[in-house]
Amino acid sequence: TDRLITPAASSEDRALDRAMRPRSLADYIGQPRVREQMEIFIGAARARDEALDHTLIFGPPGLGKTTLAHILAQEMGVNLRQTSGPVLEKPGDLAALLTNLDAGDLLFVDEIHRLSPVVEEVLYPAMEDFQLDIMIGDGPAARSIKLDLPAFTLVGATTRAGLLTSPLRDRFGIVQRLEYYSAADLAVILRRSAGILAVESDAEGLGEIARRARGTPRIANRLLRRVRDYAQMKADGRINRAVADRALGMLQVDQQGFDHMDRRLLSAVIEKFAGGPVGVESLAAAIGEERGTIEDVLEPYLIQQGYLMRTPKGRVATLLAYQHLGLSGAQVAGA
Ligand code: ADP
Repeated sequence: TDRLITPAASSEDRALDRAMRPRSLADYIGQPRVREQMEIFIGAARARDEALDHTLIFGPPGLGKTTLAHILAQEMGVNLRQTSGPVLEKPGDLAALLTNLDAGDLLFVDEIHRLSPVVEEVLYPAMEDFQLDIMIGDGPAARSIKLDLPAFTLVGATTRAGLLTSPLRDRFGIVQRLEYYSAADLAVILRRSAGILAVESDAEGLGEIARRARGTPRIANRLLRRVRDYAQMKADGRINRAVADRALGMLQVDQQGFDHMDRRLLSAVIEKFAGGPVGVESLAAAIGEERGTIEDVLEPYLIQQGYLMRTPKGRVATLLAYQHLGLSGAQVAGA
């Protein structure tokens, strides 16, 4: 999509994400509960000279799932192999990866909720008993082979834990949920990124970007790069509050950090569906977005910020949403 604040990674992001990615748990900003727990689990596994338990990381895009997986491998002192659910089409694709692992290695499977059922079947005994149990060939010549695998760690990432089948979810010993970041934490991340980009900035300027980055490090870093462009062309290259505010205004990121898609969603709920409740399919059709984008990207933040509610009958706009769009709360009472 053309969203500036879309949390999905662009190719510019991927290159710069790598440069800005923290490498150790100590540099992983925010998420104190996750950090504290992982420090203990890593320390204990290392002391026992064992592989880290299988770990599931879930949370909206851009919150640091991939980053955390890399840090876990780094802190455990093991290799990381990376793949994703949709890439593993056949059981053999997964078998090839698994049989190439060394003892203790970490296999990172992004979008693990998108594994096909036949691939998932191969994963169960691999996770549970480090056993590969796979059929080769077909017809009368087909036979099953069993192989022992080295003890390894599976790290799965998903946008929503509810998308996983329960047998898969049950096989993770550690489950971590990433939360949206506070503006204060994002400001710390931005200070580090500004250093890497060698852009001059002050605390108020970075604070303004942090406050309007939808609680998401990837968006914060992306906004920083665009504000830097603006500062370079329209000011003296320095990012202060006034420059950040003008740049974000030009980018149509509003005071709340919402962009046109967020506003379109809220105004559709209010104006086309009388404030709701409206089902996610109808909403998707009304704003021309995919259901998955609404569920994974748009609404989690709007709900967390109190602009939208999810009820059994559908999505409902709150008073805050009316106020944000400059509509009177009287319409809420009527809805
Ligand atoms: P996800 O896998 O959840 O989509 P990533 O791990 O790719 O997100 O994170 C996107 C970018 O955000 C990373 O490249 C990194 O620069 C930054 N980032 C994410 N989490 C943190 C964090 N806790 N501290 C510092 N930077 C972070």
